[in-house]
Amino acid sequence: MLTIKQRQLNLRTYYYFYVGNIDGIVGPQTKTAYKNFQKYTGLVVDGIYGKNTNSKLIEVIKDLQSKLNSKGYNLAVDGIVGNNTLNAIKDFQKKNSLSVDGIAGSKTYEKLNEESITTTKYRFPVNYIYVSQGYKSSHLAVDLGWSSSDGGKNQPIYACYDGVVTINSYASDTGNYIAIRHDNGDVSRYLHLNQRSSVSVGTRVRKGENIGIMGTTGHSTGNHLHFDLTKNGSRVNPLDYLYVYSDQRVSDSSKNLVRYI
Ligand SMILES: [Zn+2]
Repeated sequence: MLTIKQRQLNLRTYYYFYVGNIDGIVGPQTKTAYKNFQKYTGLVVDGIYGKNTNSKLIEVIKDLQSKLNSKGYNLAVDGIVGNNTLNAIKDFQKKNSLSVDGIAGSKTYEKLNEESITTTKYRFPVNYIYVSQGYKSSHLAVDLGWSSSDGGKNQPIYACYDGVVTINSYASDTGNYIAIRHDNGDVSRYLHLNQRSSVSVGTRVRKGENIGIMGTTGHSTGNHLHFDLTKNGSRVNPLDYLYVYSDQRVSDSSKNLVRYI
């Protein structure tokens, strides 16, 4: 059983069910907190801190800690609110422009439940996947080529995730290209399309939606898609974030280079 102080701290952190001081005394505020927590979590509402209430209170904090970990924190998932958990909540609130009170309430949970940058599983932008050039300092992107056994050239290009088209243009180096700003702020770009995409700037696209056809326009020596991904203003290795979905095929030579959903 959690100590009374720990119960108070857990109950304060979780939706602010406990509003009093962390004093280890079971007074009216603590009893009210027990009751409100029991009611909220579907337990028998008797205001008595028994075994079920104890395990539920540990369970909800464990869930909170796991959710925070999925956002990049590294907490022990022990169901006990301590300084590390409180600091992680505050840091998360700060980063998400929420009021920084260290209490996981509905606004914080809403943000925690949103699909995050780290958990977004981008879909490969082509259905026949052959990595012809990887990510390196001189090439901050991945090139997805083609071969006749891998779907042939001129295969369709698909949005890797939901977002809004922000660029649909041509330049001598990029050729015909399109950029999509995703809901988490990441930007994906698709270069060397065979012709201008028919999807206009401002259009909202869904993951897997066709946005163009592979080509070799611009500075390109062969038919391929140059795909790059920007996170927080920096280009990252797309192969760390792209996933092969079950309806997609991977060329034998690229099978060890890619991630599978
Ligand atoms: Zn390239």
